[in-house]
Amino acid sequence: MKIAFIGLGNMGGPMALNLQKAGHVLSAFDLSAEACRKFAAEGLAIAASAADTLETAEVVVSMLPASAHVEGLYLGSDGQPGLMERIAPGTLVIDSSTIAAATSRKVAEAGARRGVAVIDAPVSGGTGGAIAGTLTFMVGGAEADLERARPVLEKMGANIFHAGAAGAGQTAKICNNMLLGILMIGTSEAIALGVANGLDPKVLSEIMRRSSGGNWALEKYNPLPGVMETSPASKNYAGGFGTDLMLKDLGLAQENAAAVRAATPLGGLARNLYAAHSLAGHGGLDFSSVIRMVMKPA
Ligand code: NAD
Repeated sequence: MKIAFIGLGNMGGPMALNLQKAGHVLSAFDLSAEACRKFAAEGLAIAASAADTLETAEVVVSMLPASAHVEGLYLGSDGQPGLMERIAPGTLVIDSSTIAAATSRKVAEAGARRGVAVIDAPVSGGTGGAIAGTLTFMVGGAEADLERARPVLEKMGANIFHAGAAGAGQTAKICNNMLLGILMIGTSEAIALGVANGLDPKVLSEIMRRSSGGNWALEKYNPLPGVMETSPASKNYAGGFGTDLMLKDLGLAQENAAAVRAATPLGGLARNLYAAHSLAGHGGLDFSSVIRMVMKPA
């Protein structure tokens, strides 16, 4: 397939490379000249602008930071027309950015007016999953459009879920990340309490992992340095999923909760704890560094 790929960041770059490796023909673009240079060196064909990626594209994939970027790209900003006006009717758009469900629906509606199918397909799995091609896609949109997208998504991910209509992929994503953000704080508190009582954090983590407190943080992502060799905590909280990205997702969850009048007290508290952690200068560290709010690692 001929694919236009827009947004070659930490996630988008490796996802685009996986599509190219699978035999798709890509034309890619990023606003950052550095990102373009980096992925040109890896063999991607770089276009002069987002609009220039479109020529003969059957599918457009975007992987951008936040709602404003996606809205600006497709619907335009500052009086400039958006890409949607230039995308040929019949084209399929897959937006994998994590953004507000309302923005995804707005882009999908603009697409429908032009005869362009749009699905929201945010991902879980981090940069490791993007590189390995093992991401989980949470898709919002028509079932038939997901089936059209499947051969493309399968080359970037291992799990593909249809969450519901337009925007539902984004809603599933913020529910998952709100739970993850809360779990990481709870896990940190439990470890800190045990250590304050003289327990060995490795022994305590293993007891809780195999007991009713067991969860993903204890399985794969222990927040205390030295407990789990492979977790970002043991690499000075480098790589992984940044505190500021978690903060963004928890903010989206709170905006959404306000809009639908849902009660998410722990989600709200978690957002504020990550916000304070970010203000304290830890925004660029992996989100599991939030354990520093409740204990001082040795
Ligand atoms: P990133 O900041 O590394 O990359 C985003 C890229 O988009 C940048 O290179 C930027 O220059 C480019 N960009 C912005 N506006 C553009 C435009 N109009 N046209 C072309 N390029 C544009 O971010 P990332 O880590 O790759 O994350 C991308 C999305 O994936 C975010 O929504 C994020 O929340 C989500 N996500 C990230 C992770 C992760 O672990 N990094 C995990 C799951 C989901």
